[in-house]
Amino acid sequence: MKFHYYADTDSLYIDLSKRASNDSRKVAPGVVADFDAEGRLVGIDIDHASKIVDLSSLEAEALPVASVSVTKPSLYHRANRQTGRVPHTASDMTTTTDAVVIGGGLMGTSILYNLAVRGVKGPVLLERETLGSGSTGRSSGVVHLFTDPEEPRARLTLESLRIYRDFAEIVGGGDAGFVNTGFLVMVPGDSAEEAKRHVSSQQAMGISTGIVSREEAQELAPAFDLAEDETFVWEPDAGYGDPSGVALAYSTRAREMGARVVLESPVTDVEIQGGRVVAVVTAGERYETPIAVVATGPWSAVFLSKLGIELPLKPTLAEVIVLRRPMDRVSSHPGGSDRSNGIYFRPEGADLTLVGGNETPGEIDPNAYTQHPRDETVARHWAALNMRMPGMADAEFFKGYTGVYTTTPDRQPVIDSVDGIEGLYVCTGFSGRGFKLTPAVGIVVAELVLDGAATTVDISSMRIGRFRDV
Ligand SMILES: Cc1cc2nc3c(=O)[nH]c(=O)nc-3n(C[C@H](O)[C@H](O)[C@H](O)COP(=O)(O)OP(=O)(O)OC[C@H]3O[C@@H](n4cnc5c(N)ncnc54)[C@H](O)[C@@H]3O)c2cc1C
Repeated sequence: MKFHYYADTDSLYIDLSKRASNDSRKVAPGVVADFDAEGRLVGIDIDHASKIVDLSSLEAEALPVASVSVTKPSLYHRANRQTGRVPHTASDMTTTTDAVVIGGGLMGTSILYNLAVRGVKGPVLLERETLGSGSTGRSSGVVHLFTDPEEPRARLTLESLRIYRDFAEIVGGGDAGFVNTGFLVMVPGDSAEEAKRHVSSQQAMGISTGIVSREEAQELAPAFDLAEDETFVWEPDAGYGDPSGVALAYSTRAREMGARVVLESPVTDVEIQGGRVVAVVTAGERYETPIAVVATGPWSAVFLSKLGIELPLKPTLAEVIVLRRPMDRVSSHPGGSDRSNGIYFRPEGADLTLVGGNETPGEIDPNAYTQHPRDETVARHWAALNMRMPGMADAEFFKGYTGVYTTTPDRQPVIDSVDGIEGLYVCTGFSGRGFKLTPAVGIVVAELVLDGAATTVDISSMRIGRFRDV
């Protein structure tokens, strides 16, 4: 009997014969067995999460292994023993693929999906840990437009919002979890003129952002305390989505189109020969490819530096608190960007409110940072929220957590090909604003890679060379 295997994102599949499968049955937790028309076992699919699986329910003659309790590695080795092959070592495992995406956050998964949509055959995504284990898994998921008056980001957000609102239909599955809460931006008096200019430029791009009077703002957000001298910007189409869900949806759809997603596989090197990418290397495998897209979030500065590319990307701390609302005082509220008090907030689920800061403190190490917000941050965020929504003084602290932004000096992302290295692309530096750009970024990166330039939105202001220009 011949054994074939491949280790994929979330399962280890052992193909026991070349016979077709007619029936798939769950035979143990995390184990699905495939049987042919005569009821003979033809394959076993083991869930990645099931490190130990019990195969005792399978017929002895159908499964030619002695033990009934096996671990994933021992199955791997057993499969190789049956074929007489020596288990692969790091150096002899080579795969050839048309493109490799490095990093399984929002950007990497959206890029992978869009490359697959554009017809790239079997693109591979390599992720050092699990999908969403970087900034993505901590993201607040807010999608609002006013923060990005500059044309490219506003247009990328507009396009992304269109996709988020109809995600399953457009992407072909998955759920972006988009909730249209509307967003009220509260601008201090001394920034009123600038806010009005931004609103006009956004309206000229067809964005529904508009200035509202204090009375109108109060109707939209009855729980808010609004000052006489503030300016109010209302974004009716804004809301929030589910960042981890989006990353999962993109990777799942990409896999359905033939992409491979390989977890727990840190990339150690990108091989460059004669000024072009030839391979991407992990500890376990070498992927021969002409295209490598670096979407490594907060790890990008160090990763790119090893390739001789120096970019001013700083991992910075983002601290978030979640409060349970006193429902008799604040039953609901729209999203808010409170420029007077330096916070943003949005509802979460039925009775929670998530609060984050508009400012980013100093540089941190993305491999070693505090997972809990500092006491002074909790106090400051909460006090700022109370000033805006006095009812929240009676809220309960639900939880707090931290994450990492990848911050550039101008807070614009870096999306570009690398001069002098054909086939190498960089997509990083989203400075705390990547979720709202994700669907459109995948599209423009695929255009950059496959057509040589982005056409959906002109992203030339996001080029690497701008840091040399200043
Ligand atoms: C607390 C917080 C709140 C936020 N709120 C919002 C918001 O409300 N709205 C908004 O628009 N944006 C928000 N953001 C920003 C948004 O979440 C990020 O811009 C986005 O997640 C960045 O995605 P990414 O794919 O670039 O990075 P990441 O999600 O960090 O993904 C990079 C991936 O690369 C992997 N990796 C690194 N090195 C290697 C290697 N050598 N080999 C293989 N893999 C590697 C990492 O493990 C990681 O999974 C927030 C971010 C944080 C932290």
